[in-house]
Amino acid sequence: MLEINNLHAEIDGKQILNGLTLTVAAGEVHAIMGPNGAGKSTLAYVLGGRPGYEMTEGSVTFMGEDLLDMEPHERAAAGIFLGFQYPVEIPGVSNIQFLREALNSQRKARGDEPLSGGDFLKLAKEKAGLLKLDMDMLKRQVNVGFSGGEKKRAEMVQMGILDPKFAVLDETDSGLDIDALRVVGEGINAIMRDPAKGVLLITHYQRLLDVVKPDKVSILAAGRIVQTGGPELAQQLEEEGYDAIMASA
Ligand code: ADP
Ligand code: MG
Ligand code: MG
Repeated sequence: MLEINNLHAEIDGKQILNGLTLTVAAGEVHAIMGPNGAGKSTLAYVLGGRPGYEMTEGSVTFMGEDLLDMEPHERAAAGIFLGFQYPVEIPGVSNIQFLREALNSQRKARGDEPLSGGDFLKLAKEKAGLLKLDMDMLKRQVNVGFSGGEKKRAEMVQMGILDPKFAVLDETDSGLDIDALRVVGEGINAIMRDPAKGVLLITHYQRLLDVVKPDKVSILAAGRIVQTGGPELAQQLEEEGYDAIMASA
């Protein structure tokens, strides 16, 4: 589904991705782990099409198309979803308004009719239930005054409503307590575990991977993938730390 080949990316003249090569096949959850400052969030931003990055070498193909050539809204319409480490607040806009607008603009881009208010609310209720988020939360302004856990659950409700083909989730587990972690992890499984879908799951910790079991685990360090393995690699990292593993890589 996603093929990243020898990607080099810089921002403000600073080289951050440095020959990154990575493939995610349909049906796979591929976890990315790596030390602080390795370039994990940069990878997520580059895949989402955030402006400011210059790709000086390499390529990214999504379902056979040149992803780097697509505008952010085209990427979203093609079925890519980005979950952020720090979800933004949007004062004055309710979650319901925001989610309905996001869904209908993607439907429009695909040539589908917008969902009616009633059908949309039904869908929103179903996904909120999945994430154990009270519908009253969805009537509130986007992320304003939300706790860390509520933000992440609201973001996963958004993912459920948009039903993407591919999700890039950047530290979705950060700031979650044990119970919220389980709810969010199970939400990711329910929404994205599908033979036709793929997930790039960026995380520091094994605990999310206990719920969302990865097919592959890669270590990103200094802007490139230095090792790829199965779930046991995450376990080994948890026990030994990055330094030991990278020294033996
Ligand atoms: P990670 O998510 O793995 O912790 P990031 O992708 O956030 O790492 O950052 C990778 C490196 O790029 C860090 O050293 C960070 O300071 C640097 N960086 C990120 N954004 C910028 C920027 N706008 N200008 C200069 N350096 C940046
Ligand atoms: Mg970080
Ligand atoms: Mg980061």
